[in-house]
Amino acid sequence: MEMDNQIVKILLVDDREENLLALEAVLTSPKYQLIKALSGEEALRWVLREEFAVIIMDVQMPGMSGFETAKLIRQREKTRDVPIIFVTALNQTDENVMQGYSVGAIDFIIKPFNPNILNWKVNGFVSLYLNQKKIEEQAKVIAKRTEELEQANQALRDNEEMLEALVKERTNELLVANKKLLESEKKYRKLVEESPEAIILTEKHKEKPFFVNQTGVKLLKAQTKEQIERQSLFDFIHPEDHKKVRKIFTLNRSGRNMYECRLICLTGEVIHVEVKSIPFDYQGVSCLHILVRDMTELKQSREFMHQTEKLTVVGELAAGIAHEIRNPLTSLKGFTQLLGDKIDSNHDYMEIMITEIERINTIVSELLLLAKPRKLDFKRIDIGVILKNIITLMEAQANLYGVTIQCSKNQGLPSLIIHGEENKLKQVFINLLKNAIEAMQDGGEIIISIEQIGSEVEIKVIDGGCGIPTELLSKIGQPFFTTKDKGTGLGLMVCHSIVESHQGTMQIDSIKGKGTTVSIRLPLYQENMEYKAL
Ligand code: ADP
Ligand code: MG
Repeated sequence: MEMDNQIVKILLVDDREENLLALEAVLTSPKYQLIKALSGEEALRWVLREEFAVIIMDVQMPGMSGFETAKLIRQREKTRDVPIIFVTALNQTDENVMQGYSVGAIDFIIKPFNPNILNWKVNGFVSLYLNQKKIEEQAKVIAKRTEELEQANQALRDNEEMLEALVKERTNELLVANKKLLESEKKYRKLVEESPEAIILTEKHKEKPFFVNQTGVKLLKAQTKEQIERQSLFDFIHPEDHKKVRKIFTLNRSGRNMYECRLICLTGEVIHVEVKSIPFDYQGVSCLHILVRDMTELKQSREFMHQTEKLTVVGELAAGIAHEIRNPLTSLKGFTQLLGDKIDSNHDYMEIMITEIERINTIVSELLLLAKPRKLDFKRIDIGVILKNIITLMEAQANLYGVTIQCSKNQGLPSLIIHGEENKLKQVFINLLKNAIEAMQDGGEIIISIEQIGSEVEIKVIDGGCGIPTELLSKIGQPFFTTKDKGTGLGLMVCHSIVESHQGTMQIDSIKGKGTTVSIRLPLYQENMEYKAL
């Protein structure tokens, strides 16, 4: 609001009309709105209605005098400070003037008054009034501002409280959600930890796993999780499979993968596994859930079946061939004998020929027997005879390696009869002799000894070959354990099971570099045995 252009109200009070007109004439100004009252009572009414910058009032008035009117005006809170200029006649006593001041006059104008002086005085009071107004306005503005500030402050405080409440609420929500997450994570962890399958968790592009479950630890033959979690997964993958695994991952970056590979356990053992890797999100990080399944046994039994199948096929073939050879051999032998009787010279040659033909016959017969071991057929067998036949069968092969086979049967003993399946037992000794021959790369002698010990017969196959290192001794006889390039690792396992089916035992003693002794004990034949075997 522009104060300087404000029109201010001035109240003129006099009981005489002409005096009022005179005052009006003096004070005429566009800045003033002059209001006239003809009595004290009328003046009071105006004062109640309007706000005045200055009141100019006659002292002597009929009815309520100027002083009385002033007194009443002063009593009113709102008008306590309105300046009042009394207009009075010259003959005013000092006492009168004193009374005037005491009721609140600010100034006196003596009649007849100088218009200029009146104008100046009024002007002065008006400016005072306007200043006062200005200050009040400013105070109001300040008060308003203060109030606004206070309101803003309050709003801020309210806002803050609201925010705080919101934050609290949100925190609570998060806590609940977090708890749920934690619970589901706990469940997931338990599930993963106790899974019968090996599970490894790793960040997608990292090679070191951050988690491996108990089954995984066991599978890799580790003692603690840390032994695995510290290492790159590729440390466990067979070097020959690295390329394949990496290729699978580069070909299928984001999807599930399934492949087979070989792992190397912490003990150095190689196992065949099937690996399934499934991508998943763990706390916002893309990870891989890797399932590892041990396929070693499955693979081995597959291979075993494959081997047995091969053996059966070879066996059948051998049987067929042996049969085909035996027929012409019979006629060869017959004709040789016939010729021998007819000619007089070179009898020695004929004998050699017949012996050799008989030898071929024995070998072929053995082959035939071995090739069709269909049904288990336990019989009384002289173990000495079996060994003799086997030696005949194996000698040729032994000679190829520069190995000879000696049998040290104590001739003084009665023939050692056991109860068993001839072909199976033959297979045992063939396997043992094969191993012994293969162990003696530089040639040498294999000794076979037979001895009766109580109610048992002990057969030993003793070679002077390469022997078996102590640390491998415990693995010998496990299926597929072989140290040979073309070995099957089945020979000794088959021996074990055959000896066992004869209620016998088998033991291997070996010294690396010195040689090996395989001892087999079988119970001697007793009358009641036939029933037992059934
Ligand atoms: P394969 O002969 O096919 O390897 P075997 O079960 O007959 O399978 O034998 C298993 C392993 O035992 C052989 O690879 C070899 O390391 C060891 N072995 C068996 N017999 C002997 C032996 N007489 N001398 C030294 N090592 C032997
Ligand atoms: Mg063998």
